[in-house]
Amino acid sequence: MKNKIVVALGGNALGNNPQEQLELVKQTAKPIVDLVEAGNEVILAHGNGPQVGMINLAMETSSESEANTPEMPFPECGAMSQGYIGFHLQNAIREELKNRNINKSVASIVTQVIVDKDDQAFTNPTKPIGAFYSKEEADKLAEAKGYTMVEDSGRGYRRVVPSPMPVDVAEIETVKTLADAGQIVITVGGGGIPVVAEGNALVGVPAVIDKDNASGKLAELVDADYLIILTAVDKVAINFGEPNEEWLSEISIEQAKQYMGEGHFAPGSMLPKVEAAVKFAASKAGRKSLITSLEKASDGINGLTGTVIVDK
Ligand code: ADP
Ligand code: MG
Repeated sequence: MKNKIVVALGGNALGNNPQEQLELVKQTAKPIVDLVEAGNEVILAHGNGPQVGMINLAMETSSESEANTPEMPFPECGAMSQGYIGFHLQNAIREELKNRNINKSVASIVTQVIVDKDDQAFTNPTKPIGAFYSKEEADKLAEAKGYTMVEDSGRGYRRVVPSPMPVDVAEIETVKTLADAGQIVITVGGGGIPVVAEGNALVGVPAVIDKDNASGKLAELVDADYLIILTAVDKVAINFGEPNEEWLSEISIEQAKQYMGEGHFAPGSMLPKVEAAVKFAASKAGRKSLITSLEKASDGINGLTGTVIVDK
């Protein structure tokens, strides 16, 4: 059966630097093209943590050095990361499609994700970005640029930005049109470039939208059947890393919520995935979420592995 699938790629699909990424995307392309070859409509999303971190740090360092390059705002750094991740991904997928004689186009969209300027997250920035500074330097930056600077586990002070929830995807009609025409679309990279609406304008804000939440929102907006979150583990566990660890195959929304409440999923890694998976599965009858590893994507959709979250 042909499904419409939103696939969210994690850090292990892309690696930590441009050279690693160029190599890894060749492997990443395979399970994605497997899903395409099986007749599914695939829309891709991906993270950008190491990539946007590197770009932001390089830009920051260069602007503070003798080179004195212009300051690069954080949303622009996010846009740059979408560009070069998209370049590598679309290229690798294109080649894999050609290797299998599948005649489909693939393209990345510079994607803006609209957030609510009144989102509670803006009053409590939590995501550390950029370089480490001394207390003195941090105070100067806070004063000069209005940054929120916090002490990061004894290593110095870092800028933190908010992590608001995704409300809408600005380019959603473009994504739908391309996907419906049978093309493979790469979108909401790094959770999307966070923007707020000001009249007819969309204005970039320094923030990080969680890529799992953004992928879930995307899946709702395109009316997908499946949200597949591909990460480094085959399944989700309760009592993760403990002697009584238990890997989960299929769980209901109620069960998932109970496990979330009991603190089984680490905040910042597995918790946002389960949250996004639950939200999508609960959003409309027939929608399913699957969390599995990159390598097991096809096995997962065929019910052979992975953790499925479904309304039952
Ligand atoms: P990604 O880059 O794919 O978003 P993360 O590192 O953010 O990956 O999240 C996936 C990781 O979450 C897994 O590799 C695993 O180490 C960790 N994790 C935390 N809690 C759990 C759990 N309960 N079950 C499985 N994995 C978990
Ligand atoms: Mg993550």
